[in-house]
Amino acid sequence: MSFEPVELERYARHIVLHEVGGPGQQRLKSAKVLVVGAGGLGSPAILYLAAAGVGTLGVVDDDTVSLSNLQRQVIHTTDRIGRSKIESAGDSVENINPHVDFVGHDVRLDQENIDGILLDYDLVLDGCDNFSTRYLVNEACARAEKPLISAAMGRWEGQISLFDPSSGSPCYRCVFPRRPEDGMVPACAEAGVIGALPGVLGSMMALEAIKEITGAGTGLRGVLLMYDSLGAEFRRMRTSPDPKCPVCAGSGPE
Ligand SMILES: [Zn+2]
Repeated sequence: MSFEPVELERYARHIVLHEVGGPGQQRLKSAKVLVVGAGGLGSPAILYLAAAGVGTLGVVDDDTVSLSNLQRQVIHTTDRIGRSKIESAGDSVENINPHVDFVGHDVRLDQENIDGILLDYDLVLDGCDNFSTRYLVNEACARAEKPLISAAMGRWEGQISLFDPSSGSPCYRCVFPRRPEDGMVPACAEAGVIGALPGVLGSMMALEAIKEITGAGTGLRGVLLMYDSLGAEFRRMRTSPDPKCPVCAGSGPE
């Protein structure tokens, strides 16, 4: 796979980076990344992955753009209110980088469809807004042995990690064994969320994905990074696999 001259110019600031270079940019072009949710976290994640030149970018969402999304979901625009988020995200990706192959999945993920959708991708980013999908995506990624970059947030705080039990690091369920009852943890709609917070965390999701694909630096396997935006503080917490985890026990390398 080679680059056209316009691509070399587009990615010039990556290619001069020692940790990316031409080979890293090739890996980005060959990469197939799935983003779950074109909402607050998905918006910057999708835009930065598209701008970075990820060759195949899949997005799952079955929602439509509404006015109250626009305070933080910057991939969508005022004139797209009422349109499907997949169409809107696809238009934004096309506008920022026509070299990206955008694949829209206008469905709600469930037990029936998730394994088939995951099949085509080698890395998954979860920025969904509910616990059912979050636990479902974790289980499917563990089953398919695909690394999962997962972020979550509410009000002024958020967290991000990379879950990859096939490499010996924990899965989401190891770190969060008890799924909250529906309605116990208020969604952004009830609790509120500061608009730039998903901008920080979603951009970090894209950056960690770029590191994972190119092999640059140290990722977030076994580390939960927490951000308190009111205190302007980051904290790192070490996490380890739960040997009794019902999702991933026994799935690490021998
Ligand atoms: Zn686990």
